[in-house]
Amino acid sequence: MKVANSPFRGLEGIHNFNAGPSILPGEVLEEASRAVLDFNNSGLSLLEIGHRTPLFQEVMNEARHLVKELMQLDEEHEVLFLHGGATTQFMQVPMNLLNENEIAAYTDSGTWAVKAIKEAKLFGHVEIAGSSRENNYTTIPKDLLVTPTAAYLHITTNETIAGTQWHTLPYDCGIPIVADMSSDILSRVIDFNKFDIIYAGAQKNMGAAGVNLVVVNKNILGKVKRTIPTILDYRNHIKEGSMLNTPPVFAVYVAMLTLRWLKQQGGVAAIEKINNQKAKLFYDTLDALPVFKGPVAKEDRSKMNGVFVMQDAGLEKEFLEICRLQSMIGVKGHRSVGGFRVSMYNALPLESVKALTDLMKEFAQRHG
Ligand SMILES: *Cc1c(COP(=O)(O)O)cnc(C)c1O
Repeated sequence: MKVANSPFRGLEGIHNFNAGPSILPGEVLEEASRAVLDFNNSGLSLLEIGHRTPLFQEVMNEARHLVKELMQLDEEHEVLFLHGGATTQFMQVPMNLLNENEIAAYTDSGTWAVKAIKEAKLFGHVEIAGSSRENNYTTIPKDLLVTPTAAYLHITTNETIAGTQWHTLPYDCGIPIVADMSSDILSRVIDFNKFDIIYAGAQKNMGAAGVNLVVVNKNILGKVKRTIPTILDYRNHIKEGSMLNTPPVFAVYVAMLTLRWLKQQGGVAAIEKINNQKAKLFYDTLDALPVFKGPVAKEDRSKMNGVFVMQDAGLEKEFLEICRLQSMIGVKGHRSVGGFRVSMYNALPLESVKALTDLMKEFAQRHG
């Protein structure tokens, strides 16, 4: 079997565990590179056509439609592709939803939540509805305390750095829910309609860097008193069909191809099955080998980002070097956590996890 779903990758045998930007399906890369030279046999590059031409308008329409279909969104939920990455949403969400004298409830599950909280405080009051800071973010916050009059609850569904993930979502918290899904968007079946805003930078699970998917329940808008700059007001983007200004055309195109690929795989339910297999293989191996240690509480482990360390930290360098020799890319842990992190996004084939776990077993035998 090929290592990754691309002929040139298979030859090289690279296993790409990068956290983001991260692995994309081989066929997406091939089609995207063709479009740079000649888009849909137009004789023009995708990069040199107007965004309001029918050629590109079709790309945007298909991308938005695919999101609606794959997430099974209802009529109230609008799909936008915006500039600025998830970090812009940390600011844009409170700017559009939170009045100065109001409270927004935030869960603090790690680095990304902390950044979101910092921005929200620029616009109104923030209450921490739950935090796992005390245990170094090795769990997901439980037993949330939410003020019933809070404008919304914000959660980070998957903590990319700490390697934690919400497996039970707080659907019944009684107030609107906003979710940063940057690192687990479209990786599992959830009720997306229960969320009022979902945002995700595309570069982890659904495309290239440069575009942000934002899903908005339009009923939640228009309730803040401040004047919102034109480009930051979701309502303007909805009105203009996500074409208020020039969208990041190439990034939208790559996202569209990735969404098409996901549909061809059988959609979210089908990819979830494979994601579960990958995560099970990885964590079963981790738990069976005493050389390695997973710091995250078992019930909160992320199926996207597996974090682990060595019982004997002195061995980490050796394991890292072996990974390098075996073309296992991107396994080094985030600088704030140390150890190792392997990202197992949608496009990562099961074979890559198999290769990694084989290597872990070999390593454990040598040092057992
Ligand atoms: C990567 C990441 C971000 C930041 O995304 P940018 O597109 O770089 O702004 C935010 N939240 C989460 C959960 C992430 O994983």
